[in-house]
Amino acid sequence: MIENIKTVIVTGSSRGIGRAIAYAFANAGHNVVLNGRKEISEEQLSELSHFGGEIHTCIGDISDPDFASRLIKETKDKFGSVDVLVNNAGITRDNLLLRMTEEEFDQTIDINLKGTFYTTKAASKYMLKQKSGCIINLASVVGQVGNAGQANYAASKAGIIGFTKSVARELAPRGITVNAIAPGFVDSDMTDVLSDKVKETILTQIPLKRLGQPEEVAETALFLSNQKYITGQVINVDGGMVM
Ligand code: NAD
Repeated sequence: MIENIKTVIVTGSSRGIGRAIAYAFANAGHNVVLNGRKEISEEQLSELSHFGGEIHTCIGDISDPDFASRLIKETKDKFGSVDVLVNNAGITRDNLLLRMTEEEFDQTIDINLKGTFYTTKAASKYMLKQKSGCIINLASVVGQVGNAGQANYAASKAGIIGFTKSVARELAPRGITVNAIAPGFVDSDMTDVLSDKVKETILTQIPLKRLGQPEEVAETALFLSNQKYITGQVINVDGGMVM
C-alpha cells in the first residue's frame, strides 16, 4: 500500500499518451479519473482495476466549460481532493495556412488551449483551498519550433507553454506546481495517420532515431507529480529534437 494516495485526473485518457499516463498513475496505486469524448473500453477499465486505487470515468468534451467544471467537481465530490490534473486531451487539424479554415483553427485552439484553461481554472479553485496540487500540461515540440501545416496546433501548444509558466507563477505561493511536457513524435493514433514518407523525414530530425513511446511520456508525468521543487518548466520528451 502506498502512503500518499492521490486523486489524478487525466483528460483524453481513452487512448494513446493519456491512456499510458492513466495506467502509470493507477499502477502507482493512485485513484484515477478517466476522460475522453467517447466511452472508455471495458478492456481498459479491466486493465486498470487490478492496482488498488479506484477508477472513475467522466466522459465529455473539455472544450465545453460546463463539462470541464463538472469533471473537476465530480472528482472532488467522489474522492475529496483533486491532487493531480494532467491536461492531455488534444487534437490536430492539419492544413497549410492558405487552406486552413477558421473552423480548423478554432477547433484546435478550443480543445487544446481553452480546454486546458477551463479544467485548470476549475481544479485550481480546489487546489488553492488544499494548498497543494500538481498540474501537468501536454505541450509539444511543435509549440517550440513550429511545423509546416500545423500553424493552428503550434499556436495552441505555444499558448500552453505561456499559460503553464504564467499559472505556475500565480499558484506557486500556495505550493501548487504547474509544468508542461513537450513530446516530440510519439507512437499513437495521432501520428499513425502520417504517411511513411513523412515519418521517414521526421526520423531524420530525431537524434535518438525513433519515435517516442506513450509510456515514456507517462513516466515523465509520474516523475513530475512527485516533485515539489520543479515548477514552470517545460520538459522535452523528444529523443533530442529540441536541445
Ligand atoms: P490521441 O489522438 O491518440 O488521443 C487523444 C485523446 O484526447 C483521446 O482520448 C481523445 O478522446 C481525447 N480528446 C480529444 N478531444 C477531446 C475533447 N474535446 N474532450 C475530451 N477528450 C478529448 O493523441 P495522443 O497522441 O495520445 O496525444 C495526447 C496529447 O499529447 C495531445 O495533447 C497531443 O497534442 C500531445 N502530443 C502528442 C504527440 C504525438 O506525437 N502523439 C506529440 C506531441 C504532443
